[in-house]
Amino acid sequence: MHLVNQTSDSELLAEALRLRQALLTLETTRAVPVLVYPTIGIAPFCLGEVATADILRSAYAACLDARQAGEGAGLYSSSLDASYQRRFILFGDIGRALENDQEFYLVFQPRISLASGECLGAEALLRWHHPTLGEVSPGEFIPLIENTPMAEPLTQWVLRHAIRQAAVWYRQGEALQVSVNVSATNLEEEDFARRLLEEMSNWALPTTAIEIELTESALIGQGQVAADQLKALIAAGLRIAIDDFGTGYSSLSYLHEIPAHTVKIDRRFITDLGEDKRTETLVNSMISMAHDLGYRVVAEGVESDAAYQRLVQLGCDEAQGYFIARPLLPEVFEEWLQER
Ligand code: C2E
Ligand code: CA
Ligand code: CA
Repeated sequence: MHLVNQTSDSELLAEALRLRQALLTLETTRAVPVLVYPTIGIAPFCLGEVATADILRSAYAACLDARQAGEGAGLYSSSLDASYQRRFILFGDIGRALENDQEFYLVFQPRISLASGECLGAEALLRWHHPTLGEVSPGEFIPLIENTPMAEPLTQWVLRHAIRQAAVWYRQGEALQVSVNVSATNLEEEDFARRLLEEMSNWALPTTAIEIELTESALIGQGQVAADQLKALIAAGLRIAIDDFGTGYSSLSYLHEIPAHTVKIDRRFITDLGEDKRTETLVNSMISMAHDLGYRVVAEGVESDAAYQRLVQLGCDEAQGYFIARPLLPEVFEEWLQER
C-alpha cells in the first residue's frame, strides 16, 4: 500500500502509473526471472472518516476494474463499487437459490420453421427472481459463475428442469425440441454426458428431443474430456447447436471441423436485416456456407416482419425472436401454441 497526500485525480493516476512502471522494471536478483503485471487501484479518502476495510475494498474494486479494462491503474468510483457489490451479492446467492429451488425458473422461446410457420421447438432460458434485487438477467449472472465450481450445479439444474418440461410436452403429443444452453466449462466435467443421458432416460425422453447450445469457442479446440463428452452426446442422438454464430473470430475457417448439427446466427446480424445491405450480404453467405456444410440454420433475434421476410427469401430454416414470441412461461407457451 502506498499513501499519497491530497492531489488531483490526474496527479494520482500519474503517480500510480509511475509506481507501476517501477514495479514492471523491478530487477529480480534470483536466477529465475519473475514476471509481474501489476494493476493499481486508487481510493481517495479523508483520514479518520472512512473505515479501513472500506478503503481497502474501494481500492480493490478500482483495481479489478482497471484490470478488466486492460489499464494499469484505476481510480475508485462509487458507481463502480455499487456494481461490484451487486456482483458479489449475486455470486454469493446462487448456491442458496439452487438449494431452495424457489428463485430460478425457465422460460421457453419458440423456434419456428420459416418454410411452414410451424413451431418446431423452444430454447430454454434461465430466469432468476432474486428476493431483494428482483429479476436478474442471465446475461448478468451466468458470466459470474462460468469457470467457477458453480457452473456445474447451475447447468445441472437447468438441464433437469428443461428435460422435465420436454418430457411433459412429449407425453402431451407435442413434437417439440427443447434446446438448452451449456457453458464451455460444463463440457470439461468428466460425467457430463452420462448425467445428462441418465436424466433423459429417467423421463423416458427420446434423445432427439434435446439440443445442446454451445458457443464456437466451447466447440473449437477443446481438450480430450470435452471432445469425449460431445462425442458421447452425439452418438446418443442429441443435437448440437453452435450458438451466437458469427461473433467468434474463427467462424469461417473452423466451421467444417465443428461437430454440430445446427448453426444459430447471432442476433446482431439479424436485427437490422431488411434495412442494411451489407448485413444482408453477410447473412446470405453465412446461410449458404452453413447449408453447404450440412448444417441447419436458425436466425436469432428476429424482431421485425422485414427481417422475417428476408430470412424466408434467403432460405434460412428457422427463426427465433420477439417478432415471433418473447421467451414464455411454460403455461403461456402452451397457450401460444394453441392459438397458432
Ligand atoms: P442466448 O443464448 O443468445 O439467448 C438468446 C437471448 O436473446 C435471450 O436473452 C433472449 O431473451 C434474447 N432474445 C430473444 N429474442 C430476441 C429478440 O428478438 N431481440 C433481442 N434483442 N433479444 C432477443 P436472455 O434470456 O437474457 O439470455 C442471455 C444469455 O444468457 C443467453 O444468450 C445465454 O448466453 C445465457 N443464458 C440464458 N439461459 C442460460 C442457461 O440456462 N444456461 C447458460 N449457460 N446460459 C444461459
Ligand atoms: Ca442460446
Ligand atoms: Ca444466441
